Amino acid sequence: MPALQPSVWEDILGHVRVQHPELVRGWFSQLEPRSLYGGILRIRAQNPLQVRYLDDLCRVAFTESAQAALGQLVSAAFESDEVGGNGHAASKDEGFDPTVSLQLNNDYVFDNFVVGPGNRLAHAASVAVAEAPGTTYNPLFVHGDVGLGKTHLLQAICHETNRLGTCANTLYISCETFMNHYIEAVERGMMKEFRYRYREVDMLVIDDIQFLGERERSQEEFFHTFNTLHQAQKQIILSADCSPAEIPSLEGRLVSRFNSGLVASIDMPCMETRMAIIRKKARLRCIEVGEDVIKFVAERIESNIRDLEGALVKLDALSHTRGGKIDLALAQEALGPADVHHAITVQQIVDVVTRRFSVRLADLQSKKRTKSITHPRQVCMYLARELTSHSLEEVGGFFGGRDHTTVLHAHRAISTARGADAKLNGILEDLIQALRQRRVEVNS
Ligand code: ADP
Ligand code: MG
Repeated sequence: MPALQPSVWEDILGHVRVQHPELVRGWFSQLEPRSLYGGILRIRAQNPLQVRYLDDLCRVAFTESAQAALGQLVSAAFESDEVGGNGHAASKDEGFDPTVSLQLNNDYVFDNFVVGPGNRLAHAASVAVAEAPGTTYNPLFVHGDVGLGKTHLLQAICHETNRLGTCANTLYISCETFMNHYIEAVERGMMKEFRYRYREVDMLVIDDIQFLGERERSQEEFFHTFNTLHQAQKQIILSADCSPAEIPSLEGRLVSRFNSGLVASIDMPCMETRMAIIRKKARLRCIEVGEDVIKFVAERIESNIRDLEGALVKLDALSHTRGGKIDLALAQEALGPADVHHAITVQQIVDVVTRRFSVRLADLQSKKRTKSITHPRQVCMYLARELTSHSLEEVGGFFGGRDHTTVLHAHRAISTARGADAKLNGILEDLIQALRQRRVEVNS
């Protein structure tokens, strides 16, 4: 079975470390790529517990990183040799630890955050909250598209309260972690510990709260956590990829709670802000890059700061392998000719579909066969066939290693349904328009 070159694996791990530092654990260095076949990168972990952690939290991170390093569509799958039970017994010691906050990224401080028209309010509110938690904007709700700096701002608040000593007991977690803790606490009869942990903090910071919409009982529990903290004037800070009212299936009473403090959006950064961010990131990483290249990259990548940073890292790596400097020619070569670079990607398709149908990429790539998952999965496959030039095998591989006949079947099913179902047809037209518009925006 084809193996992966060690340097490519290093690239993938490096990418995960840069893009998702909060997920990285010490034992990641022991992970091994087992095979790359049929669009699936199989990664071997030491035990079922690690597999569970990776499955729950890291699938998207590894998938994105593998795609970036390999330049092709792949999805990541995790496995271990040990066949464990359900992992719960072991997790008593290692898994569920309600005392642990996510690790903060040392670079995500206010000093490294470039302020521009798109994020001025969110930034100012974050600074105010860090200086006096619980007294100004409570809750603070920050929302914006992916890669625009929500996590950076949330972590900057945590760093700042640590530095200023304005908050003794901060809990910073992802929404997934909250929900997993909750489920685990229910299963193991540890609700008392759970409530103690979440309701005794001085500041609760939860990233990507939009996922709460998916789980009714977690919402119920969070509602009570929220009220307890709020009544005690403890600070609550939340982020999401959309405004409270736009979070699918979020209960009305939570929407109104979230709206009761300050809701600040982060919008696309303008050209000047993008250039300033590249300058800042280059300085942080000690990458030497001229103004012409900065301008070129900022013009090229408009909608996502993470991609901006990714482009810089790519240029740096390339200049090292070539033994030269980063110049305009290199940048043009690396970021590709306009058409290829701006073609609609499967990632963009996944973005619009997951949002429209309130599902996650991890679900689309999973083995789940409930209609609420299979339908959006088929829509993705259909759009990938219609709008990209990837082969059936590649598309199938990306969506959880399905074979080409599955993709073919999905395409047929949706084509047929589209003709008969006006509502579905409308949805598809919207999605296609959104994808095309996105492309025009980038081109213009
Ligand atoms: P989100 O959580 O909104 O998806 P992140 O906070 O992870 O986005 O930001 C993605 C990357 O972009 C991070 O490396 C972050 O440091 C960087 N970034 C975003 N906004 C800014 C900004 N205004 N100044 C500097 N870096 C930024
Ligand atoms: Mg984030």
